[in-house]
Amino acid sequence: MFKSIPLATALLLSSSAAMATEQPNWATCVADLQQTAKAEGLSQNTIDTTLAQVKYVPRVIELDNKQPEFSQSFENYFTKRVTEWRVAQGRKLYQEHKQLLHKLAKEYGVPPQYLLAFWGLETNFGSYKGKMSVLDSLATLACDPRRSTYFTQELMQALKLKERYNFAESDMVGSWAGAMGHTQFMPSAYAKYAVDGDGDGKADLWNSTTDALTSAAHFLQNLGWKRNERWGREVSLPADFSYAHLGKAQAQPLTRWAELGITQTNGQPLSTPDMKAALYLPSGHTGPAFLAYDNFDVIMRWNRSTFYAIAVGHLADRINGGVALNVAPPKMPNLSRARVKELQQQLNAQGYDVGKPDGILGSKSVKGLQAYQKSQGLVADGYPDEATFKALKVN
Ligand code: CA
Repeated sequence: MFKSIPLATALLLSSSAAMATEQPNWATCVADLQQTAKAEGLSQNTIDTTLAQVKYVPRVIELDNKQPEFSQSFENYFTKRVTEWRVAQGRKLYQEHKQLLHKLAKEYGVPPQYLLAFWGLETNFGSYKGKMSVLDSLATLACDPRRSTYFTQELMQALKLKERYNFAESDMVGSWAGAMGHTQFMPSAYAKYAVDGDGDGKADLWNSTTDALTSAAHFLQNLGWKRNERWGREVSLPADFSYAHLGKAQAQPLTRWAELGITQTNGQPLSTPDMKAALYLPSGHTGPAFLAYDNFDVIMRWNRSTFYAIAVGHLADRINGGVALNVAPPKMPNLSRARVKELQQQLNAQGYDVGKPDGILGSKSVKGLQAYQKSQGLVADGYPDEATFKALKVN
């Protein structure tokens, strides 16, 4: 076929194709993976017919390398995920799966609305589960030096799942990072926590919503979900609030928060069972405030993002008949990493040690920022709003 293409074009095509797919150690790596698979007890048949045939997918590395240039504002993140459509759909699916959901709540301790919220956030209730070959993606990542050990393990687990349940390779599709099915389980979570809820002999997280919901409940139970506890709630802060204790590291007993004047958004006092809660202000003091309980940390064990955990918790409340947020998340610009980095440099220069500037607002940066804001008579909420950028002369 190449003969019919003019030579210059052919050279161009072949060199760009080579550049796009170049992975010098691919063959060696796949051979090594076959050794690992053998040691892990996978059958020679699986090794020869499946593992030996995996393909390198440059797009996976591209996606994995993609460093976000900015962090999304809470408003931007939240309004895309907690939508009226998802609330309505969650309520509809509750009616549809009511019997199962209540059985799962009884058995695993996770109420229906949370299972529906995870399902809604992970795959829009199963409407986009990812279409990439999980085996190809995981092999590609396993052969990339950065997180080779982790992805090699995930690949081995995926191959074991294929053997255990006799899945067709073409059915094992998912995200570019290897997350699968209605609730986007990685292979290791699939292997450990997937449950055959409908009793057909396989735990099928792609095609059985009963299996998927049962597995999600089982997983959450194992992550430490506390029966009869909420995730947290939106709260109201008094006008003179000091913002001295933010985030998980500075969780305090609910009685202490009540003493500081925090109430429910309807003005009612907080109920104060003997438990700790952490305060989160995802868009600073002008936005909604949340007190997060232990189940919030459980949601974070599923996905390590406070925005995600708030979205799951609030979507669950809405599905369960709750109202929209009392304080709507204010529109804020997405924060570019370059700008945050500059802010960190300025803070360091002024003697507020925030560590090596990396463009990401970690707890050290928030602390330094709070101290700086306090010194300037700004609201010390640790949130880099425009007033703070201006004071620090960061454009
Ligand atoms: Ca099943």
